[in-house]
Amino acid sequence: MATEDLEVMEKPSATRRVSADWGRDERVRSVYSHIQRLADLGLKPIPRWGGGHALPGTNHRAFADNPPAPREVACADYSGGLAILTGTAHPLGGYVLGVDIDEGPTTLPGLPRGFLYAETGTASGKFHMFTRVADRLDGQVNLIAGSGQLVAEIKGYGHALRSWPSLPPDKPRGYTPLAWATHIEVDAPLLSAQQTAEGISDWLSRTLGCEVSIKSRERLRRLPQRSRKASHGNSIFDQVKTAVTVEALAERFTTLRPAGKARLKGLCPLHIERTPSFHINTDRDLWYCFGACQRGGDVIILAQCLMDKGLL
Ligand SMILES: [Zn+2]
Repeated sequence: MATEDLEVMEKPSATRRVSADWGRDERVRSVYSHIQRLADLGLKPIPRWGGGHALPGTNHRAFADNPPAPREVACADYSGGLAILTGTAHPLGGYVLGVDIDEGPTTLPGLPRGFLYAETGTASGKFHMFTRVADRLDGQVNLIAGSGQLVAEIKGYGHALRSWPSLPPDKPRGYTPLAWATHIEVDAPLLSAQQTAEGISDWLSRTLGCEVSIKSRERLRRLPQRSRKASHGNSIFDQVKTAVTVEALAERFTTLRPAGKARLKGLCPLHIERTPSFHINTDRDLWYCFGACQRGGDVIILAQCLMDKGLL
């Protein structure tokens, strides 16, 4: 997409007056105009509670298939902020793909065909970009530098990205709108999710001056040792443990990031928190929350805890 197709802007103007209640609060009007603008581009925002998961009893996959209407979103509780769903079917064809750049250059390149929206992050080199692709990416792939550092995440079905404006106001870690697509009707998605990931990987390799490669989440870690579990017996619990890893269950409720060899961490799906204290040992297929929960165990115990919270 050529740069002239982009409308670079500061902040959505808060002139839309929806009701007397909205009009009273500048911040709420800004939220509404942001939600409306996202909806105009076919992007589906959702309220987040605590950042760890979208809403109690749901997950991002369910929301991607059945997203709330802008009106429903506008009525919701923003105490945990706002996020944009990825993996949703776009009204004009294709699927929404999210790109979360954690360690990028200071400016974005010419944006890809199918581009929808970009926002700048909380520090230099942090960006969110949303685009339409021809196919639906299931889950997430990571872009990793040669040093092993996570540089960017490409998010599809089952994921979401936190978006401007960050709420509540005492959590000023938000993203600021950078560019909106102006001709989405003519910008049909041509690229697949894989091609888009490859293009972003090439761009980051060039601009960062190091090799950045695509790693699926599965290849980031060794698979749990299933033979060890199988030897414990054939109860229903053993069968479940063999079929479902802690990681596979947890990532339905939270975003996991690499945290060392055979370790993942993320915001705890069982309590509301701002810094990740939920840890997974993928070798042993065990989890522990070092935050408010102070408990852990195997996948059965995690499932039980999620059920106790009404999440599963
Ligand atoms: Zn916890």
